[in-house]
Amino acid sequence: MVVVKDQLDPDLRKIIKKQKAVIIPVGSIEQHGPHLPVSTDSDIVYEVARRVSEKCNFLLLPTISYGVSFEHAPFFNLSLKRQTLEQLLIDICLSLSSNDINSIFILNGHHGNQKAVENLSKKINRLSKKKVRVFVFSYWHFMKHEFDHAGFVETSLMLAISKKVKMKRAQVGLITKNLSKKEKSRIAKLASKSFPSATRNGIWGNPMKSTAKDGKKFLAQIVRNLTKKSQTCLTDKSRKLHH
Ligand SMILES: [Zn+2]
Repeated sequence: MVVVKDQLDPDLRKIIKKQKAVIIPVGSIEQHGPHLPVSTDSDIVYEVARRVSEKCNFLLLPTISYGVSFEHAPFFNLSLKRQTLEQLLIDICLSLSSNDINSIFILNGHHGNQKAVENLSKKINRLSKKKVRVFVFSYWHFMKHEFDHAGFVETSLMLAISKKVKMKRAQVGLITKNLSKKEKSRIAKLASKSFPSATRNGIWGNPMKSTAKDGKKFLAQIVRNLTKKSQTCLTDKSRKLHH
């Protein structure tokens, strides 16, 4: 694995001649209940990207720590407009291509970013002189357990990778287990517009029984599945541009 920001220019230009796949972690700065830091999505997605880079020998780019998080207002969020994040990623990918790096993995760590990242490949290839392979993934699609927001999954993941979790301040959030399908999708829709109105305290799920051990298990599963998928992308002869 090569951490790009730590390299010296002459070394980096040598490395690029051999290693041409990069990964860009994309997170957010937004409320994650009273017990997790606002950098939670950025912290988790960085750690997943770092581990995948290690396994696949990718170049690891700096994390984009801001995302599209307006839905968390009036709780704390620092948000980019969808178009801003999309344009930022387009510019970075075109710049990578100018540096002769043409296999790009974008790893998303926040649900609200999905619209900004979904059609990047087409847009980049319309603007680029060279063919650029852009693969976009959201890391929670690579685990079996249902995902949440500051609930059991995210809190366990943070306990596994960070010392900033304050379990004493954790609260039970929105529990969807006994809701009908219809009710669940109504609340999910509401949450995408106003997360606090849907959850009251900003937590989707129940963090109370989270453990570092569970977090390590989730992380191992995500990294294993994502590594496999990334390697398939690079060897895929059909060279599908978007996933
Ligand atoms: Zn999150």
